Amino acid sequence: MRVFKFGGASVKDPDSVKNVARIIRDHHGTSPLVVVLSAMGKTTNALERLCAHFMEGNREAMMEDFTQIKTRHMAIAEELFPDRTHPVFNTLEQLFYHLYYYIIEKPGNNYNYEYDRIVSTGEMVSTQILSTYLTETGLSNRLYPAQKLIITDASFRDARVDWIMSVQTIQEQLAPFLKPGTGQDTPSLVITQGFLGGTPQGFTTTLGREGSDYTAAIIAYALQAREVVIWKDVPGLLNADPKLLKNSVLLENISYQEALELSYYGATVIHPKTIKPLLSKGIPLKVRSFEKPESGGSVIDDNASNDGVCPSYIVKFNQVLVSIFPKDFSFIAEDNLSRIFADFARNGVKINLMQNSAISFSVCFDFDKTKTPALLKDLEQNFTTRYNEGLQLITVRHYENAQLDDLVKDREVMMEQRSRTTLQLLVKKQS
Ligand code: ASP
Ligand code: MG
Repeated sequence: MRVFKFGGASVKDPDSVKNVARIIRDHHGTSPLVVVLSAMGKTTNALERLCAHFMEGNREAMMEDFTQIKTRHMAIAEELFPDRTHPVFNTLEQLFYHLYYYIIEKPGNNYNYEYDRIVSTGEMVSTQILSTYLTETGLSNRLYPAQKLIITDASFRDARVDWIMSVQTIQEQLAPFLKPGTGQDTPSLVITQGFLGGTPQGFTTTLGREGSDYTAAIIAYALQAREVVIWKDVPGLLNADPKLLKNSVLLENISYQEALELSYYGATVIHPKTIKPLLSKGIPLKVRSFEKPESGGSVIDDNASNDGVCPSYIVKFNQVLVSIFPKDFSFIAEDNLSRIFADFARNGVKINLMQNSAISFSVCFDFDKTKTPALLKDLEQNFTTRYNEGLQLITVRHYENAQLDDLVKDREVMMEQRSRTTLQLLVKKQS
């Protein structure tokens, strides 16, 4: 069996839904398929805004958001299902009524709980629309709620997956629907919501923004899928953000390890959470374009022989460089270092790059408006600090033939580090 994941951009309007249905039909083949779907377009952002207005008691803005979200979805449904008496309209009305009756009450004080309750509507509605459209166009399928498959703890908005329970329930619940070639009565096509989970007590949770890829990986892991395909609005994995570097190229094949390294250095294409379950079972992850479904895209698997075929570029913005000097002019040694690392750990600041000399220790990390000043205050108890902000951290994997001119021109290099495979440059734009 296989798992397909479609993101919000792939179902942003009626034509996109039709395109997704076409891809499912063309690529379904004979083996069973689970489709994991996100909320339509930018619905999650819109629901986040609605939730914020709900919590602030800003009812007017909240109702405006509600009407907009509902109207947009109903308009999509009306174009996909010309018969206004179709039962799907009733189901969609019910999903929106649930939300409506919830938000006209007073909010509780657990923001994250309310968030999951509200924001999950996006995926509930999108999957209902896609599942019905597939049925209407002759692809029988089973819509199965993710809350009953992905079992999590109650850390709302960033729920942790209970792997043992989830694997067991996914296997038990989905097995009857995923027999190959069973035809009409027991469809071998399952649709479920990305990003959502549920506690054993039945509360809806979410896995963190962009969590749908992770959902696909969990299901693939549980069912020992043959592959996972993430259908995106890009041709596959690129070696650089095309907004930053012209002539970016497609990485046709990289290893899990390389994908983990790239995301460690700040590449945002695939979250490490998604890679790990697939790596542990050796399930290939493909990234393909829903706009050009006939082209091959990228594969992440255990073949590392193509990892170094071209350099990959990652840029992290909004970096801070702090140089730390012992107040008593002592050398930077283990006792100083352990105090410095304790300050970083206590403030939850992750180090991106570090370097030491005899009397100073320099550290680069992401700027954060609350954590950064708190960290500096702690450091300044024992050390003198020098601080630079607004920097960029450029990481180049497999840098032998790298084109650095565009990235470093007009910039001062503040720190540089090389390993056998990775070059990192911390640069400052010259004013
Ligand atoms: N709809 C959620 C989000 O936009 C989850 C996802 O798309 O992966 O973050
Ligand atoms: Mg999304």
